This record gives sequence, structure tokens and C-alpha cells, in this order.
Amino acid sequence: MMLQEPYPELDDLLEMMGEAGRHLAEIEASEGAAGNISVCLRWKFEPRPCFPLMDEIKLPQAIPELAGATFLVTGSGRRLREIIGDPTANIACLVVSEGGETGRLYTSSHRRFERVTSEFNSHLAVHYDQILSSGTNFHAVVHAQPLHLTYLSHITRYQDEGYLNTHLLRWQPETIVNLPEGIGFIPFCVPSSNELMTANVESLRTHRVVIWAKHGVMARSDVSVKRAADRVEYAETAAKYEYLNLSAGEVGEGLSADEIRSICNTFNVHQEIF
Ligand SMILES: [Zn+2]
Repeated sequence: MMLQEPYPELDDLLEMMGEAGRHLAEIEASEGAAGNISVCLRWKFEPRPCFPLMDEIKLPQAIPELAGATFLVTGSGRRLREIIGDPTANIACLVVSEGGETGRLYTSSHRRFERVTSEFNSHLAVHYDQILSSGTNFHAVVHAQPLHLTYLSHITRYQDEGYLNTHLLRWQPETIVNLPEGIGFIPFCVPSSNELMTANVESLRTHRVVIWAKHGVMARSDVSVKRAADRVEYAETAAKYEYLNLSAGEVGEGLSADEIRSICNTFNVHQEIF
């Protein structure tokens, strides 16, 4: 998937990041300053005048093939729900330098953060891996902390991907259509760690959304940042149904495997979960 010209303007991208952030807060996936958002674009792009300040920073890993690419990324400690009110106070613009080891970090003079999000190592690694394999010119990554998905990740039997997916993807016909590869699962890793970064890259090769056990989720899209946020919402809605069913003493039937296979046949969805 490639975005076609005319490419989205900076204002549109910032607004979409703001809308995605606000919606993640609305679905209780971003309490306080939890969660972070980034997009990578590969067309020519002028960060000024929106981001007049510039610092040279070392990137968490070298990404030589992405020299010249631009990242828009939320600042450390910023609230996703507040991006929409003042995007440049909450978002930085990073342009990858020649060689791919450093970048020029452009920010606004009224920015309310010192550094980009502490999860940027995972964001960058996932963008890099996805863009190298698909060749896309646009990629969005979202980390959020949806309540029900995160709660279920504390229960041993949901820590098995097979069990997790056959139980969560059974409540609505759309779930398998939107998440045909199911939801990935990463055992607990310390936030911002290399271990978490490597696990994200691996799991997001084969899933569009992945649970970080006892922490939250990460989702990606090569269409839009709102599409990535939608994937968080589809997975969280499935987890809400599952939680509701547990609370009700597991009286719900859920769609049967046969019913889900019929849906997939009708809508031409390839899946290997049911
Ligand atoms: Zn987090």
C-alpha cells in the first residue's frame, strides 16, 4: 500500500494524530500521559515554519535506507487527548540524516516536552522493518493502554495466542474481517527495553495489533494513523465482550468456528485461527 499524490499536508497529519489521540482517550486506552503515536512519511517535506527549533539527535538504531524520511512523533509525558488542541506543542518532527544514524529533531518554540516518547525505539524499529519489507511511503504506529485487553493479559490462559484469539475474535462478525491475522501477544517486557522493541518488530510482521502483556498494545497501519487507532479499538471491543462474558459467568455462546468460517468465505478473508 502506498499513499498517492496529493500527499496529506502537515496540518492534516497533525490533525489526524490529534483525532486518533482524542479517540484513544475516549475509549479509555490512554489515561494520564499513557500512550504514544508516530507516523513515518517518505515524501519531501518542509518541517519549518511549524517546527522552527532544531537539534541533532542520535537515533535508537541506524536506519540508513530511511535517510531523508520524516517522522512525526509525540513528546515524552504528553497527553494524547491534548494533541488536538495544540499539535505542535505535543509533537516533534524528526528528519533522518544522511547515513541514518542521526536525525534533525524539529520542534516548536512552545513545545511541552524535552524528548520524544520513551517508546520511540519500538516505534522506529517497527516503522523501519515494515517499510523495508513493504516499500510503503507512509506508516503509522500507535501504543495505547486499553483497559480490558490489558486486564485479560494478566490472566494466564489468555497469554496463549491460540486461546486469546479464539476467545476474543468470536463476539462480532467484523472482528475477524478487521483483524484476520488475529492479535499478537508479547510476554511482559520492561517498558522501553530492547527486548520489547525486538518482540514488537517480530510480532507486527504477522499481526496488525499486538498485546504487550500487563501493559497495553501496539498497532500499525500503512493507510492512516486513525486506521491504526481503529485496530486498537476493534481489539479492545473484543476484549470488552470477553470480559463481559467472564463477569456474566460465561453464559455467552459467541460465534461458532463454522459461523466465523462462513463469514470469511463470504467476505474473502484469509485466516488460520478458526
Ligand atoms: Zn505504555
